[in-house]
Amino acid sequence: MDKTLAILKPDCVERKLTGKALDFILSRGFNILALKMVHLNPAEARRFYAVHRGKSFFDELINFMTSGPCIPLVLEKENAVPAFREIIGATDPAKAAEDTLRKLYAESVQRNTVHGSDSEENAQKEIAFFFSLMEIT
Ligand code: GDP
Repeated sequence: MDKTLAILKPDCVERKLTGKALDFILSRGFNILALKMVHLNPAEARRFYAVHRGKSFFDELINFMTSGPCIPLVLEKENAVPAFREIIGATDPAKAAEDTLRKLYAESVQRNTVHGSDSEENAQKEIAFFFSLMEIT
């Protein structure tokens, strides 16, 4: 079965939405293969978001992602990468479809509650960033 990497971002944890977000994900048919809480340091956050280096929002994004703990997850489902992108909705919650995680819970384009890998290749890289083989059931 296909896998993707999700992160419940610091705004999700800080606002005590973790349970609601996990329930939403499980109710949409995803299996959780691995889960942990981590507090990224700036070097780790910059490495994770290296593709955005140089963009106007990069420093703000790093500040946000290091502002508190977050919860990376390995999720499993048929076509997990596009299926998860569909249930999280557009990056900007104002543009996210109804009944998506970001529409329901996100506050802004930056504090948008959840990350989901955007390709199969990135999913594999991002899973390996947070989890060793032994940690994935
Ligand atoms: P995603 O794949 O939907 O998460 O979106 P991107 O890969 O384009 O951006 C990564 C993350 O950077 C987003 O989830 C937001 O947290 C943040 N971000 C993206 N665009 C903007 C922006 O225009 N302004 C700010 N402040 N943050 C942004």
